[in-house]
Amino acid sequence: MNKTIESKLQNLNIEKRAFIDGIYVDSIEGKTITKLSSVDGRDISGLSACTELDINKAVDAAMRSYQDGQWRKMSLKDKKNIFYKFANLIQQNLEELALLDTIETGRSYKNYFFDSIPKAIEAIRWFAESVDKIYDHAISTSYTSSATIIREPLGVVGIITPWNDPLVVALWKLSPALLMGNSVVLKPAEQSSFSILKVAQLALEAGIPKGVFNVVPGYGTEAGKALALHNDVRGIFFTGSSLVGKQILQYSGLSNMKKVGLECGGKSPFIVTKNYSNFQKTSEVLAKNIFYNQGQICSAPSRLLIDNTIKAKFLELLLLESGKYTPKNPLDLESEVGAVVSFKQKERIEAYIQSGIESGAKIITNTTKKTPVDGGAYIQPIIFDDVHLDSLIAQDEIFGPVLVVLGFDTIEQAIEIANHSKYGLAASIWTNDFNEAHYVSRALESGIVHINSYGDDDYTVPFGGVKESGLGKDKSIYAFDEYSNLKTIWMNFEIVRNDT
Ligand code: ADP
Repeated sequence: MNKTIESKLQNLNIEKRAFIDGIYVDSIEGKTITKLSSVDGRDISGLSACTELDINKAVDAAMRSYQDGQWRKMSLKDKKNIFYKFANLIQQNLEELALLDTIETGRSYKNYFFDSIPKAIEAIRWFAESVDKIYDHAISTSYTSSATIIREPLGVVGIITPWNDPLVVALWKLSPALLMGNSVVLKPAEQSSFSILKVAQLALEAGIPKGVFNVVPGYGTEAGKALALHNDVRGIFFTGSSLVGKQILQYSGLSNMKKVGLECGGKSPFIVTKNYSNFQKTSEVLAKNIFYNQGQICSAPSRLLIDNTIKAKFLELLLLESGKYTPKNPLDLESEVGAVVSFKQKERIEAYIQSGIESGAKIITNTTKKTPVDGGAYIQPIIFDDVHLDSLIAQDEIFGPVLVVLGFDTIEQAIEIANHSKYGLAASIWTNDFNEAHYVSRALESGIVHINSYGDDDYTVPFGGVKESGLGKDKSIYAFDEYSNLKTIWMNFEIVRNDT
């Protein structure tokens, strides 16, 4: 490993306490989380394990800031300038933030530095640029009446984030939430809290008033649950597993019917027909999207649906491409793929691989390569052929570098297999037949469909799924709707003089 990177790591001052009302504070009960880095097993314990008491304190601070109105009532122009400063501060701290995320999650430093954190910064700028371009409405309802429909903030908003892309997901929720005038309490994943704790201080430095943005780390079943159940929280926005997403809906029903936004799991189909000519390109795109970040991306195309007449030829190309995603030490500057997030996650993925073998499916990739770093948690890319449609590996979200291959004979059969899933996040169809592309993209039960591409996206388009992949949208102009309520103000006018 690069010695400079290691010495930078040694010199990092990692903030592990909650950020409430503009300052770092120990958790009230003083509990902390013990954990080892999946990079190499080094001890990175000490993150505060906050509980309901800390959540109550943070929600109170957020509520005070909301009521005093300094942020809520600030002009869009001023909010926007503060956001630009916020983005610049993150940019200036990019190296440190990338190191924090790498050591906590095992994903490659290069990914964080060049891809993931720049996307998080882009979210701040994109939403700041957009917020004063969306107008409210005025309607002339009759000659003597008029109505306006305006957006209002929800109040105190809770955000619960996952570990697989820590700052991107946090900032694409936080940016529209804050710009709409809400005050926020964010509960990051216990596996990845260091970078967002640092970002909270940068937000204050940029000019976001104290209490408007609070970060409370801790376990989901304690801090996350308390936030989602809190009666002063008016909206809860979550990214994570479908199982927990369903619990969040229940917490809303058990408390104050707060607004809920959920971005949950996926088992996205990647459909290759015989009508597409460039299989080399297709195999490159598939390998990149399923094996990048060790497959720990909710929209990863984890099911290859392939026409049986081209299957053998396509798998040959795919095997060559998959070899490029062998994990390496994530702290090496040229490493594209690092470790999985934790030892627990490694066990979970390996249990799925074992269940695949027991179901009769056949691994066609080479699994004999040794781990790149002793003491770390790494998994080689796995491709399963001869997969049974109803087996666990074909139905569950594994969230690891595991691809299942399912053959089809007709396009109708491909659609049926693709929709035979409780998820509906993303999908892709590869064909040169324009009518087929249109037909399949309309027939797929999915929030996003790519034609002859996968994973292409930017902030102009919404991200989110259907079925058990969730409800509501992240990104795009529609994200502002999630963090606001529409209010109608109806006005009747008296006719003061006869003007007939
Ligand atoms: P994963 O399985 O990928 O870790 P989870 O859905 O368990 O995903 O976690 C996503 C986020 O939800 C994390 O911040 C986690 O702490 C939080 N979380 C987990 N369980 C709960 C819960 N019961 N209530 C609220 N938040 C939770």
